[in-house]
Amino acid sequence: MKIIDGKLVSQTMRNELAEKIAELKNNFGKVLKLSVIIVGNDPASEIYVRNKSKACEEVGIYSETIKLDESISQDKLENVVLTLANDESVDGILVQLPLPRHIDEKRVLSLIPTEKDVDGFSSDNIGKLTQFDESALLACTPHGIIQLLKRYEVDFCGKHAVVVGRSNIVGKPVALMLLKENCTVTVCHSKTENLADFTRKADILVCAVGKKHLITEDMVKDGVIVVDAGINRVDGKIYGDVDFDGVSKKASLITPVPGGVGPMTITMLLYNTYFAGLKKTNE
Ligand code: NAP
Repeated sequence: MKIIDGKLVSQTMRNELAEKIAELKNNFGKVLKLSVIIVGNDPASEIYVRNKSKACEEVGIYSETIKLDESISQDKLENVVLTLANDESVDGILVQLPLPRHIDEKRVLSLIPTEKDVDGFSSDNIGKLTQFDESALLACTPHGIIQLLKRYEVDFCGKHAVVVGRSNIVGKPVALMLLKENCTVTVCHSKTENLADFTRKADILVCAVGKKHLITEDMVKDGVIVVDAGINRVDGKIYGDVDFDGVSKKASLITPVPGGVGPMTITMLLYNTYFAGLKKTNE
């Protein structure tokens, strides 16, 4: 059994990105810019945004944080997004969620141009993913999962991938990405009957549920590859959706929680900003 080291893969990718970003600057005078909008004072959101700008700095992306008051109107917020949408110097726009209750989140997000949608959540980018269009900006956590597996030289072709969870941000996009990699994909969710009947058939099992230790040793087959995106905080400790101690006895490759999928998400945001800026430079 091998443990996937998400921190190591993430750092390796960031080092590679830093080199490519420096090349863009040296060869084309292009400085990548990510604009992050944060509304209100949610402490968790503030930590996420701080981590994102620190990571940008580390790889040479200029990041600007636009902090707006909790009471901002829909119109004013939309105007801020539209200004960034029309600003040539901005490569990526990220609106930190959740937004205050009085704001129509969908409408705000729909104003981010497809080519600047570095979260990869827009209908356009999901549509492109569905069509296996290489120009899609891919949602960060699922894309991070695929990158982790690729870096550990997982052979996807013809493998049965079972995804537990069907959210728009992890389950559904990762299922599409696995399909693009030529896996045969089964998607399970809260209404799935006899979950173990499906998970036991998985060559590759991806869990994105949010339930501590939902997947136990008896629910997987020998040699399975397991990716656990779950983050479950219980009594100040973080647990995955997978009972690591039991399942790792049978797995050939497995992500730990923490230190598996988690570190990849911001790295893929950096990647998307690079990808968006590179495309613009090539146009
Ligand atoms: P979500 O939107 O709450 O979706 C959870 C999914 O799990 C739903 O599709 C739900 O089914 C399914 N589900 C719930 N109970 C189930 C059960 N007993 N059996 C099978 N499926 C079940 O969550 P999410 O946003 O995808 O996040 C999932 C987990 O990943 C969370 O722990 C979250 O913190 C973590 N996460 C981690 C990162 C990261 O950076 N590492 C990023 C995002 C999320 P229904 O559709 O039927 O309700």
